[in-house]
Amino acid sequence: MAKNLLSINDLTKQEILDLINFSNNFIDEEGNFRKEDLFSDKTVANVFFEPSTRTKMSFAVAARNLGCGILDFNVDSSSVQKGESIFETIDALNLMGVDLCVLRHPESVIQELAEALPKMVFINAGEGSISHPTQALLDMKTIIDHKNSLDGLKIVIAGDLDHSRVTSSFVEGISNFPIESLTFSGHPEMCTKYQNPKIGKYEPDMVQALQDADVVMTLRIQHERFEEELNLDLETYKNSYQLSSEKLENAKGDAIIMHPGPVNYVEITEAVYDSENSVIRQQIANGVAIRMAVLSRFLSG
Ligand code: ASP
Repeated sequence: MAKNLLSINDLTKQEILDLINFSNNFIDEEGNFRKEDLFSDKTVANVFFEPSTRTKMSFAVAARNLGCGILDFNVDSSSVQKGESIFETIDALNLMGVDLCVLRHPESVIQELAEALPKMVFINAGEGSISHPTQALLDMKTIIDHKNSLDGLKIVIAGDLDHSRVTSSFVEGISNFPIESLTFSGHPEMCTKYQNPKIGKYEPDMVQALQDADVVMTLRIQHERFEEELNLDLETYKNSYQLSSEKLENAKGDAIIMHPGPVNYVEITEAVYDSENSVIRQQIANGVAIRMAVLSRFLSG
């Protein structure tokens, strides 16, 4: 296994499946996370240059469950505010004996940092619009929990795909498996990268896209990543692209509905979020199990 988890492409298909299976060991029969004192000699730092609730907190909970020390690096009160570079910042943590850095950054800096600081293990917790590998792992685990396998499934991903690192890492991961189909849907101006995709197809009409789907992943509009203010009539947008109970009727009856969070209720209605088909809250819990597996594997070298 690679030393760092920078991208899903760092993992083979077998390594993806092994991490997902391994993560199941961290959940007991009652659905609680096991607490193991496996890495009391290790220190993990959460270094987030962009907002996060689920990813950051689940890494923190996972680290605590494994007995590691976990540092919450606060960018806003750090010397980054005095102009210190990302390299010097992480190098300082490295010199203090931090073993593993969980990094979220709006720019593509992680590869260079990993090369410059070979003693530190790096886990990518979100790289701009580019990638979010642990999200892809927890998404694949959630699908396997419900569908037993990733093979033979009809998967739909809908929303603001151009800005979605969740989509890009999921596509990288899922391309290892013989799925039946992968359909991208959403406003054409938010799906420019997916109109002629390497795998799968683009279907702008969401009702068409949803036909017989087994898995539907919805994504919010990432307003913070648009260069210009988005001039969008929300009601028109919702009519075409919001996952509603009516639109969902086109999918299979046992289709699962996913969303990485945070949910804005523009891309999905509250009724669908709360429906029996929704596994969105299970994705949050699976985030802890997957991150326990990832930290264990990558702290073990
Ligand atoms: N939480 C996910 C991410 O960090 C999705 C989102 O923000 O919409 O990419």
